[in-house]
Amino acid sequence: MKAGLRVDIDCIADIIAVPLLINILGKYDSRATFFITTGEDGTLRNAFHYAGKKIFSLPFKRYCKGFFHSLFNRHVESHHNLKMLLETDHEIGLHGYRHYEWMSSLHAKSKEEITDMISEGCELFEHEFGFKPKSFSSPGFRTTKNYLLALDEFGFDYSSDFFGNKLFYPEIDGKSFKTMQVPVSMLSPGELGVDDSKILMQGKELHKNGYFVFYIHPSYEPIYKRNLFEEILRCTGGSRTLSEIYENPPDI
Ligand SMILES: [Zn+2]
Repeated sequence: MKAGLRVDIDCIADIIAVPLLINILGKYDSRATFFITTGEDGTLRNAFHYAGKKIFSLPFKRYCKGFFHSLFNRHVESHHNLKMLLETDHEIGLHGYRHYEWMSSLHAKSKEEITDMISEGCELFEHEFGFKPKSFSSPGFRTTKNYLLALDEFGFDYSSDFFGNKLFYPEIDGKSFKTMQVPVSMLSPGELGVDDSKILMQGKELHKNGYFVFYIHPSYEPIYKRNLFEEILRCTGGSRTLSEIYENPPDI
């Protein structure tokens, strides 16, 4: 069975690399779920985070290409490159609202505040793509009880907010939530920070065990880890969307 592939569009730098990624996926008869964040690209406002980082560090490599673009194109979801996804059979879902702010402040937000943020994201998404998002993923895998309570009100088919090895409904303090989770099996190859051969081995092992969903950022893996990325696609027989996994979960 094909691996699940989740692609996070966090900022303009990710969008610039979308055509390259679509090309690579085409070579391996692969489909993916692109989770697109909405609202302003926070790359510039977060520039101070990168100050003092080694020049070849992951954040610098990922974001430097987007600095110039984000000056003129403030909203991530409105970039013209994303329109080409509508002409493919890849899935697109919503990746929250104001990615960087979401990651740093979700823990302190009330259920109502989170509901407002998700609503705002849904509206911007629908305005741009012409339909309501059917799937969601929380930026930075951030989750709180208030977040899960808010999420349940939107009726998404599924959400992808956790790491894990099978589909599940989250439970906190004996309360179970009703939005199905399609978890990711491991950190992105760029974040793992170990040898490519080890990452490939880990991916093959997970795939053999029956559930393998990996995730990438277009501004990193297709560019700086292209051989590894293509090798994973080759070894797993290509990739499929998370919605295909939600509809037809592997029998583990
Ligand atoms: Zn993200």
